[in-house]
Amino acid sequence: MKNLQTYTIIGAGPSGLAAANELSKNKNKVTVYEKADLVGGLARTIEYKNCKYDIGPHRFYTLNKEVNEFYKNTLGPDSITVKRLTRIFYDKKYFYYPLSPFNTLINLGIIKAFKILTSYFFSKIKSIFNYSKIKNFEDWVISNFGSELYKTFFKSYTEKVWGIECKNISKDWAAQRIKNISFFNVFFNSIIKKIRKKKVKSLVDSFQYPKYGAGFFYKKLSNKIIENGGKIELNSKLTQINHLDYKIKNIVIKNSTGIVDIETDFFIFSNPFTEIIRLLNPKPPQNILEACNNLKYRHHIGVKLEIHGPIFQDNWIYVHDPRVKMARISNYKNFSPYMSNSININPITVEYFCFENDKIWNLTDQEIISFAIKELRLAGIIDFNNTVKNSFIVRSLNAYPVIAKDYQKYVLEIRNYLRKFSNLFPIGRSGMFKYNNQDHAIATGMYMARNLINKDFDIDIWNINSEGVYVEGEIKD
Ligand SMILES: Cc1cc2nc3c(=O)[nH]c(=O)nc-3n(C[C@H](O)[C@H](O)[C@H](O)COP(=O)(O)OP(=O)(O)OC[C@H]3O[C@@H](n4cnc5c(N)ncnc54)[C@H](O)[C@@H]3O)c2cc1C
Repeated sequence: MKNLQTYTIIGAGPSGLAAANELSKNKNKVTVYEKADLVGGLARTIEYKNCKYDIGPHRFYTLNKEVNEFYKNTLGPDSITVKRLTRIFYDKKYFYYPLSPFNTLINLGIIKAFKILTSYFFSKIKSIFNYSKIKNFEDWVISNFGSELYKTFFKSYTEKVWGIECKNISKDWAAQRIKNISFFNVFFNSIIKKIRKKKVKSLVDSFQYPKYGAGFFYKKLSNKIIENGGKIELNSKLTQINHLDYKIKNIVIKNSTGIVDIETDFFIFSNPFTEIIRLLNPKPPQNILEACNNLKYRHHIGVKLEIHGPIFQDNWIYVHDPRVKMARISNYKNFSPYMSNSININPITVEYFCFENDKIWNLTDQEIISFAIKELRLAGIIDFNNTVKNSFIVRSLNAYPVIAKDYQKYVLEIRNYLRKFSNLFPIGRSGMFKYNNQDHAIATGMYMARNLINKDFDIDIWNINSEGVYVEGEIKD
């Protein structure tokens, strides 16, 4: 049964636009309100001087066939295949990622390699008897990879990203990120593939990327939505949600002309889960506000540098080196040549992850830029052949929902409360407090819209990505 009604969507990121596309193509009246001046959310692409920059490295990969087709069809000829090169920078050396046995052995030396192997076998034997004692991320990794490999390749990077010790990170995060990766396929993937003589379709080798940056997909999608009669209002921030008897009466949007009240049949929110709660008027019960205070997001700083002169060929490098605070660096010219005006110019993002009270968040933009350049030189990633010509900073609040121990308890409490509303629907990554990638975010928006349009359709979007299939897996046909 088709049900033509009016819809409001908050956020023009992947999930919000996927929902708007589904609604508008079915001729429903939909308006998206986005606080930024660009579409794409965390997956947007910013053009500045000679280059284009994503917020951080964004490759698209999915195990969902429908989302894959949707992505390919929307991009059409504007998709390119990128040959992947990613490495880990640790102990002043570069390790191929996924790890290759010979490169790892040469870099680590025979004694360290032996320690890694023995600690792996020791952990495996221990875990046979000990499985139920896995309580956190650290336990999970040690049990699957051994303590030496954990200390070498997991601990410092993970703690830089999350800002908390690995023993305070939920084991769910390991399940979401590395469930399908085993000790043997980390090291021996290349050899296994040769033996199997089978072309494994996986991100290990290559991935799809829009010619003009990750955000170009969302620009094209926005054009489709507008062609279908949908509206996208930029620079429009949600500031209040007025409700009565578990029904939203209207929401308040602040835009360049002032304040407007919006009334529609349904409201779909992709802004942070905790923000939805805090904007409710009247306020929700105290226990819901307290649950909200227990959920934290990690913020992201992207230092955008236009670096002239020869530099690394990787798409991105994970910086495990504990001497520097940066966690990852990427070069978008190695994703697509269209990201830079010249072969000699590299659009780089240096990434820092932090909370609001961390020192780095409170530095000025110029101080952060100088700090990032100093760290790049200290690590030897850039040298005297390189000059930095233009630079800027992008600060992304609430970029990573922190999957700390016990987070699920609080998410469930809030979810159950929001479920009582007849016309309020959270979607996406921050909106559902889930470590979702673009494909998951798109799927939540697409399926939520379908549920609303057609009452016979009933996909529980909270199950998307609950399997936690790691992005390095193979596409299932
Ligand atoms: C550094 C980094 C690297 C990543 N790498 C990858 C990758 O390689 N592959 C991958 O698939 N995914 C990657 N992701 C994840 C991907 O960016 C997200 O999964 C995706 O953007 C989530 O989409 P969303 O629509 O749920 O949320 P968002 O992208 O966060 O979009 C939400 C939108 O809502 C808007 N908004 C928020 N509050 C309000 C308000 N009050 N009023 C109006 N608008 C509001 C925001 O401005 C934003 O545009 C990465 C993310 C980051 C931060």
